[in-house]
Amino acid sequence: MAASLVLVINCGSSSIKFALVDTADGEFPLHGMAERLNSPQAVIHWVIGDQRRDVALPDGDHKAALAALLPHVQEFAGDRLVAIGHRVVHGGEAFTEACVVDAAAHRAISAAAALAPLHNPANLLGIDAAAALFPALPQVAVFDTAFHQTLPPHAYRYALPEALYTEQGVRRYGFHGTSHNYVTARAAAMQGVPVDASAWLSAHLGNGCSTCAVLNGRSVDTSMGFTPLEGLVMGTRSGDVDPNLHGFLARELGWDLERIDSLLNRESGLLGLSGLSNDMRTLEQARADGHAGATLAIEVFCYRLAKSLAALACALPRLDGLVFTGGIGENSVLVRERTVAHLQLFNLRLDAERNRRCVGGTSGPIQADGSAAILVVPTNEELQIAMETRACVQAMAA
Ligand code: ADP
Repeated sequence: MAASLVLVINCGSSSIKFALVDTADGEFPLHGMAERLNSPQAVIHWVIGDQRRDVALPDGDHKAALAALLPHVQEFAGDRLVAIGHRVVHGGEAFTEACVVDAAAHRAISAAAALAPLHNPANLLGIDAAAALFPALPQVAVFDTAFHQTLPPHAYRYALPEALYTEQGVRRYGFHGTSHNYVTARAAAMQGVPVDASAWLSAHLGNGCSTCAVLNGRSVDTSMGFTPLEGLVMGTRSGDVDPNLHGFLARELGWDLERIDSLLNRESGLLGLSGLSNDMRTLEQARADGHAGATLAIEVFCYRLAKSLAALACALPRLDGLVFTGGIGENSVLVRERTVAHLQLFNLRLDAERNRRCVGGTSGPIQADGSAAILVVPTNEELQIAMETRACVQAMAA
């Protein structure tokens, strides 16, 4: 059997999501998550075939979790494992595509930690632990930012003095690149158009949310910026606010940077607006029960999303379609309906029945007859990471 398996690892500060991905058929023979690492409650949840297991790993760290994973991966994969693919949040300007992690790449990922202090160090923990446990296998880094390195300067530069860009790297980077790349390529395949001659608007709506304009398979603009806080209303993140808000909060309320950071990243968005929850399912239920905060939160979320999509349309010469993905984009009939209602100027209109049908992993077109295409495409970041990892290893061997 051809070697086609890739172990995909997504390390957070206290968690690891993992999946053994068969790039030949897109199946995940083994997947799961380790969470609450470095605490007495550390635990690994597995799914192997149709079996589920939860294994306690008291005080286990990243390496202990990966070590627990190793025998199962080896037992299943034998010599069919070709590489380990790591999701890395920030590649700065150093990485325009996935790369094998050698010493120079390791240094560059470490350097980009200044731009992503919470994420990159955790990603490196995973890379180091996996390299120690699987020394014979290439470790490949796949970056959330790399897909957006094709943005032109007029899309990625802020109107700030040049030195902040050249000396500190202050520019728009964009995130969720793996997902926008995957779903727009799928959308092109679904519509029967070549991806390198296609134009899409894509909305990734999970706990974090972003939009992207993709022209001929390349990202040309996106809503997230220097950090994942810019742009849309998200679960707990505010998205765009007037930058002078910082000064106001400091002067009027005496808030320091940490307090303001927590406000904008953890207490705002759907949670802040509704006063109830960051979870769209809860908000939809509350709206149906007449909750005013939930109703407002959904209206602001959808209007701001539509406004962002309209703005990104400036980056495209034409439109092959609009793609919805992420937990909200794949499941929320209401959010799709409220959002598209603001986009009539772009000849985008939904078919109510098709919209209702595309939930729970069902993909398909949901536009009304005569409208530009609107597609629901479930994202599959693990598969995209696995495919890029495999391609990277093959290119290295060629
Ligand atoms: P993450 O960004 O953490 O990967 P997901 O992509 O899983 O998150 O998206 C989580 C969001 O999707 C939550 O707001 C959740 O309420 C929403 N969601 C999931 N299922 C539904 C549903 N059936 N209807 C509406 N929203 C849903």
